[in-house]
Amino acid sequence: MASDGDQAGRHLEVGHKSLLQSDALYQYILETSVYPREPESMKELRELTAKHPWNIMTTSADEGQFLNMILKLINAKNTMEIGVYTGYSLLATALALPDDGKILAMDINRENYELGLPVIEKAGVAHKIDFREGPALPVLDQMIEDENNHGSFDFIFVDADKDNYLNYHKRLIDLVKVGGLIGYDNTLWNGSVVAPPDAPLRKYIRYYRDFVLELNKALAADPRIEICMLPVGDGITLCRRIK
Ligand code: SAM
Ligand code: CA
Repeated sequence: MASDGDQAGRHLEVGHKSLLQSDALYQYILETSVYPREPESMKELRELTAKHPWNIMTTSADEGQFLNMILKLINAKNTMEIGVYTGYSLLATALALPDDGKILAMDINRENYELGLPVIEKAGVAHKIDFREGPALPVLDQMIEDENNHGSFDFIFVDADKDNYLNYHKRLIDLVKVGGLIGYDNTLWNGSVVAPPDAPLRKYIRYYRDFVLELNKALAADPRIEICMLPVGDGITLCRRIK
C-alpha cells in the first residue's frame, strides 16, 4: 500500500533522529557498551570533571570511545587537539596512540588542563602531550610558515571556539596529511541547527548557531575533503583530506 510505503519511508528518515532523542536508548548505549569498557583512568577523569562547574563542555563517554577507536583504525601517530578543557578527549587520544605518538594540545585555559593532568600522568601517557596555553590560531599561523609541518598530522580534533572553526579549517587543511582526518565537534550544536528562527534558545547557543550552520555548509561544499557527519555526542563531522 502506498500509505504504508510512505509511512515506512518517513520512519526511516526520522529513525535516527528519534534514536538520538531517546534518553533510555542513550543510557542503554552507555551502560551496555561504553561504561563497561571505559578505561579506569578515563572513568576517573570523567568523574573528576563532573564536579567542575563547566562540566557541560566535557566530551561524552561514548564519543571518547569513538575517538579512541577511530584513532586506532587509522593508526594515528601525530595528532592535534584544539580545545582541551580537563582533557577527556585528550586522554582518549593519548591512550589510543603508540608510545611514541604525539598530541599538540592547545587551550587558552591551563588551569582546567592541570586539573586532569594528574590522571593523565598516572595513566602513563602524559609524555605524548605537548600542551600550549593560548589561542590556537596564532600557533597554526606560525606552523603554516614551516613547510615541514604541511601534511604532517594524521588526525586533528577541533573542539573549541565555534566562531573560529572556519578560520581553523583554512589552516588545518594544509597541516593534515592527504588521507588524514579532521574531526569538527558539536556540528549539530544542541539540535539548534534545525531550530525555527523564533525558537527559545539559550544565548550562547543562538550566538554560535550561525557559525555552525556556515561551517556545515562550507564543509559540505569543500572539494578537498570527503565528509561524514555523525550524530555522536553533539555531532561530529569527520573530514578526510583527499587533495
Ligand atoms: N575536548 C574537551 C574535553 O574533552 O573535555 C572539551 C573542550 S571545551 C568544549 C572547549 C575548550 O576550548 C575550552 O576549554 C576553552 O578554554 C577552549 N578554547 C576556547 N577558545 C579557544 C581558543 N581560541 N584557542 C584554544 N582553545 C580555546
Ligand atoms: Ca565538544
